[in-house]
Amino acid sequence: MINLSPIRGMHDRLPDECDQFSQIMAVIKEVTESFGYRQVIIPIVESTELFKRSVGISSDIVQKEMYTFNDRNDDSLTLRPEGTAGCYRAYLSEFQRSAPFQRLWYLGPMFRRERPQKGRQREFYQFGLEAFGYDHPSIDVEVIHIANTIFSKLDLKANVICKLNYLGTSETREVYLEELRSYFKPFVDQFDDVHKYRYEQNVLRLLDSKDEFIQSLLSQAPKITNFLTDEDTQTYQLIKSLLEKFKIPYEEDFKLVRGLDYYSGLIYEFQAMDGLGAQNTICAGGRTDNLCNILSGKDGYSLGMAIGIERLLLLTNSQTSKKLDKVFVFTDNESNYDDLYQLQESLQKRKQGVFIHYGVSQLKKQLNRAANMNYQMAVGYIDSRWIVFDLVQNQKFESNSINDVWEHINASRI
Ligand code: ATP
Ligand code: MG
Repeated sequence: MINLSPIRGMHDRLPDECDQFSQIMAVIKEVTESFGYRQVIIPIVESTELFKRSVGISSDIVQKEMYTFNDRNDDSLTLRPEGTAGCYRAYLSEFQRSAPFQRLWYLGPMFRRERPQKGRQREFYQFGLEAFGYDHPSIDVEVIHIANTIFSKLDLKANVICKLNYLGTSETREVYLEELRSYFKPFVDQFDDVHKYRYEQNVLRLLDSKDEFIQSLLSQAPKITNFLTDEDTQTYQLIKSLLEKFKIPYEEDFKLVRGLDYYSGLIYEFQAMDGLGAQNTICAGGRTDNLCNILSGKDGYSLGMAIGIERLLLLTNSQTSKKLDKVFVFTDNESNYDDLYQLQESLQKRKQGVFIHYGVSQLKKQLNRAANMNYQMAVGYIDSRWIVFDLVQNQKFESNSINDVWEHINASRI
């Protein structure tokens, strides 16, 4: 016997979850496309080099979370851990020269070998968007505006807060990083190996450490806002005033740094205040201008964000609803299947879905089966008559005519 469970950290998405997933995606897609973004579908497998370069050698993802394997010709390939790198590669190869201003969105599975826990899987879905070619801070605000609109439409506004930080240009950050290093230097001997590594490779990541000792050092640590140039400060002010204009609430958080190396300028997260525990970030993003040079050798502008769909599913109401869009159809005699096909065709024409049960058994069993499968309506063809059962309101209706059956189903919807 084969082991029937999915791989650890991965799960089967059953129909009820898929229905909920589609409803959420319908909202996300509508909002995103109303801002002029268009969908791209990019490969799940990319060269390992792409992620090493873009996500960054010192990031947790590249260090220990990627699913990497050698193809039969020894090329090193990786299951994508995030969508920005692939989307960027596609943009650079297809659009950068001919149509450099692009707004793109994607949806798909991502893979990271993390410790599975609530809101953290090894295979998870991200919706993400990327805008290319624009320097003006209006686009930073646009991306936050989109995320904010999505969460409002999903009725999550009261539970979600947008946190911001401004990392400035690479030059600003260089100076700041030097200051941070000098600040932490006297304490490094007391750090564990993970934090020693962060200190050496990516000192910014000390700011979002959960380690108690590191956290106790943070209140006195230098803050990036004190190192911003006049130009940085102006841009950041403009962004904040635009957010206010669009009535988007936010909090500034100088400890917010992203785990990926490629961010600069404005970065943001939307965090849920309730319902997700430690994994409370549902959306994260920021400016990724540096990636353009890293991947193409040319300067360019870009930014984006990604939303973790599973975390959204945990937050939105996950009750299983009765299947109203489909009816359960059966008969007491196999020689009546032709009548069932007729009913099916007629209901399908009226956009009413039909689940025919091919099996003959007692009426009670048929109705139990329909109820267990969560149908509101069941239709039986019994003794040459149609009987419509409303399993929620516990009513029944009989007729000879398919048209009556349809009208009754239509009128019984709750
Ligand atoms: P976290 O701090 O939770 O590890 P991250 O900084 O690694 O998140 P990003 O790489 O920015 O996350 O991904 C964007 C979003 O994708 C996250 O905010 C989260 O909603 C979702 N996400 C990231 N990793 C996972 C995972 N392992 N399982 C489920 N969702 C995830
Ligand atoms: Mg992570």
